[in-house]
Amino acid sequence: MVTFNLDNLVRENIKALTPYSSARDEFKGEARIFLDANENSFGSPLTKWYNRYPDPLQWELKKKIASIKSVKPENILLGNGSDECIDLLIRAFCEPQLDNIVICPPTYGMYEVYANINNVPLKRVPLTPNYQLDLEALSESVDERTKLIFLCSPNNPTANSLLREDVEMILNNFDGLVVIDEAYINFSRQRSFIPDLQDYPNLVIMQTFSKAWGLAALRLGMTIASPEIIDILNKIKPPYNINQATQELAMKALDNLDDVNAMIKEIVAERELLTKELQELSLVEKVYPSDANFVLAKVSDALSIYNFLKDHGIIVRNRSNVILCEGCLRITIGTPPENKELLAKLKQYS
Ligand code: PMP
Repeated sequence: MVTFNLDNLVRENIKALTPYSSARDEFKGEARIFLDANENSFGSPLTKWYNRYPDPLQWELKKKIASIKSVKPENILLGNGSDECIDLLIRAFCEPQLDNIVICPPTYGMYEVYANINNVPLKRVPLTPNYQLDLEALSESVDERTKLIFLCSPNNPTANSLLREDVEMILNNFDGLVVIDEAYINFSRQRSFIPDLQDYPNLVIMQTFSKAWGLAALRLGMTIASPEIIDILNKIKPPYNINQATQELAMKALDNLDDVNAMIKEIVAERELLTKELQELSLVEKVYPSDANFVLAKVSDALSIYNFLKDHGIIVRNRSNVILCEGCLRITIGTPPENKELLAKLKQYS
C-alpha cells in the first residue's frame, strides 16, 4: 500500500488560490432586486428567463446527480463536457514540463490533446494485444513525477472494459491520481468504480451526459472524487462553466431515469444484433466484444470500406492508423433503420 498525500500532488500556485466567488455567492439572505452582477435587468427580448448568471456551483443539479449516483454533492465537479474535466485535472496537478501523465493507447484522444495544450509530458504505455493493461510496463514507466494515470473503461476505441483486478492493482500501488474515464459505463456489463471511492483516496471517476443520457450537445461531464480533490478543481474551474439551459435540461433528464434506462437497453440489444450481423459479412474479419455504444470491427480493407460508406452518406471512424487497431473501423450503434442501412451498404460492397 502506498502513502497518498494530496497536498504533495497539487501544484504550488493552486494551493494558495481561493476559488472565485461572485457577489451573489457572498450574499446570504432574502432579496428581490439584484443590481450586483451587471446583468441585463430588462431581460432578453427573446426570453425573460436567461438574463441572470447561473449558479456557479450548480447545487440543485449536483444534488440530483448525487442521489442517483449514491454520493454527496461535494463529491461532484461538473464540467463543460468531461473534456473540461480532463483539462482541469491536468491543470490542477501537473506542473508544465516537469510532471507527467501516463496514458494507455489505444485510448481516448483528448488526454493527449490536453497534455499537449498544457505542455505536460506524456508517457504512453500501450495496452496488451487483448486490450488489457500491461501492469509490468506501467510500473516501469511511472516515476516520481507521474501525477495522473488516465484509464478508460470501457475503453474508446477498443470497446472493452479493463479488468477490475488490474485497475485495483494500480489504485493500490500508485500514489498519484488514478483517473477512470467511465464515459461508456452505462452500456457495460461491469459496475462503476463509484462505490470504491470510500476505499481509494487517489481514485477519480469521470462520467458524462453525452452517451447514455443522449445529451452530447448540452456539454455536461462529471468528475466524481473525494471532496478534497473536488475542492481543488473548484478553485480553477471557470465560474460559470455550466450554462443555465444545460442545468435545467439535465435536471429534467434526471427526472426521467426510467426512459433513459429503457433506451440504454435498446442500444445494447442493437449492439448485439449489429455485432452478429457484421460477423456474418465476409469483409468483416472480427468484431471485438463491446461494453460500449460502438463496436470495433477488423475489416478486409478499412480505408476503402470507409470511403465507400462515406460516398453513400454513412460516416464511420477509420481507426486503421491507430496502434493495435490496424485495419479497424469504429462504428457507433445507430438506430435500427440506420444499422440496417449500414449493413445493406456493406453487403453491396462485398
Ligand atoms: N471520454 C471518452 C472515453 C469519450 O469517448 C468521450 C467522447 N467521445 C469523452 C470522454 C468526452 O465526453 P464529453 O462529451 O463529456 O466531453
